[in-house]
Amino acid sequence: MDREADPTTWPTPDSALVPGEPRVDVHGLSKRYPAPNAPVRAIEDVSFQVADGEFVCVIGPSGSGKTTLFRLIAGLESPSDGAVYLGGDRVTEPGPNMGIVFQEYHLFPWRTVAGNVRFGLEQRELTETARADRVQEMIDLVGLSGFEDSYPRELSGGMKQRVAIARALAVDPELLLMDEPFGAVDAQTKEMLQRELLDVWSETGKTVLFITHDVAEAVTLADRVVVLGSDPGRLRDVVTIDLDRPRERSDPEFGEQVSLLRELIGADG
Ligand code: ADP
Ligand code: MG
Repeated sequence: MDREADPTTWPTPDSALVPGEPRVDVHGLSKRYPAPNAPVRAIEDVSFQVADGEFVCVIGPSGSGKTTLFRLIAGLESPSDGAVYLGGDRVTEPGPNMGIVFQEYHLFPWRTVAGNVRFGLEQRELTETARADRVQEMIDLVGLSGFEDSYPRELSGGMKQRVAIARALAVDPELLLMDEPFGAVDAQTKEMLQRELLDVWSETGKTVLFITHDVAEAVTLADRVVVLGSDPGRLRDVVTIDLDRPRERSDPEFGEQVSLLRELIGADG
């Protein structure tokens, strides 16, 4: 793919690109929704890449096209222009190579925790023992041992989202893609889930693309942050968060990164 020769991707900052073959390549992506007068431009010419094993956050104010971007990357919606590549292959529909986690849990209410985590494994040719082992491994990974037989209605919001993460990871996807997954839980639970997700990330080595409107959350989690503006849904910048983990909110550098990103989002927005 020759970026120099493709004017639709200009001016993408260098920080949006990664050396070597990207795990995820979002290329000149636009989405316009039909509307009575003029089409709604939800995302306009967005390009960025995610390296293998990287943790990238996308931030932007409400209405900046974050969920649209999520749906396009997941293959739940097709772009008006541009394309998404996962491991070099164009994404045209949802597939087992991507584990997706929605803001509103989306668990199967009639299935237990174990039943939910099993879901994606049911299409796989595995022995029943291998399947059960994998389910247990994922449940342990997200700290839900002992809740295998519970139903979603019996779980707190934070626990439901851990089930969703276990379900997404069970099939060993190339990418874990999440849209504001901790948006509906209280602040304390949110910080706990963030720490747990970082543990899962370092244990599994997964590539993670995590969408949020919470700037401090992005600075807590990300290697790099893709900043969307609402003018409409354009790429503002891609910022590298060069802080050691675990990151402390009380660290002055943490505060500086948060202020910088807030300014970027707010600027002429
Ligand atoms: P965010 O997740 O950042 O809040 P969205 O992707 O949900 O942003 O929305 C971006 C813009 O696209 C908004 O103006 C929204 O109203 C519009 N939009 C989103 N989905 C649709 C749709 N299915 N039809 C028409 N407009 C939509
Ligand atoms: Mg959204």
